[in-house]
Amino acid sequence: EASLAGEEGGVTERTFMAIKYDAVQRGLISEIMGRMEKKGYKLVALKMVWPTEEFAGKHYHDLKERPFFGNLVKFMSSGPAVAMVWEGPGVIKMARTIIGATDPLKSNPGTIRGDLATSVGRNVIHGSDAYSTAEEEIALWFSPSEIHAWNRTNEDWISSNN
Ligand code: GDP
Ligand code: MG
Repeated sequence: EASLAGEEGGVTERTFMAIKYDAVQRGLISEIMGRMEKKGYKLVALKMVWPTEEFAGKHYHDLKERPFFGNLVKFMSSGPAVAMVWEGPGVIKMARTIIGATDPLKSNPGTIRGDLATSVGRNVIHGSDAYSTAEEEIALWFSPSEIHAWNRTNEDWISSNN
């Protein structure tokens, strides 16, 4: 396999998502996973991870200079997240669409954050924002042996070439 994020723009494209600890506490795991599953994306990796502050800081390294960074890594390391890799056509961009805007109050109803959250500091879900970050985040959270390229027997009912 060329990349842990699969083929960009192809049927094996992959993204990293994490159900944050606020959603775990609120009993929203299946609600959130179900949206990706029902859309037709394939779950290829899954585990519960209780990040250290150091690990959370690595995940959010781009935000190190932001005023909320300290609170963000404290929150992310306060309990377990549900780490996932989802696969399918256009999954990186579509996951972001399904998630909604960073600020739940600016997220449309019908999106995860638009339906389930009201606060930017408790916005229930993370999703990679580009192919390069999907690659980086999948590699940070998972080892290659934890990612499963399984065949779906009903694939013909989910995608067609014409
Ligand atoms: P995302 O990609 O939509 O999750 O947003 P970002 O990558 O910009 O930020 C990462 C996470 O940091 C967000 O999901 C929020 O949980 C948190 N965050 C972003 N902006 C703010 C902010 O202005 N205040 C606080 N408290 N948290 C923020
Ligand atoms: Mg982000």
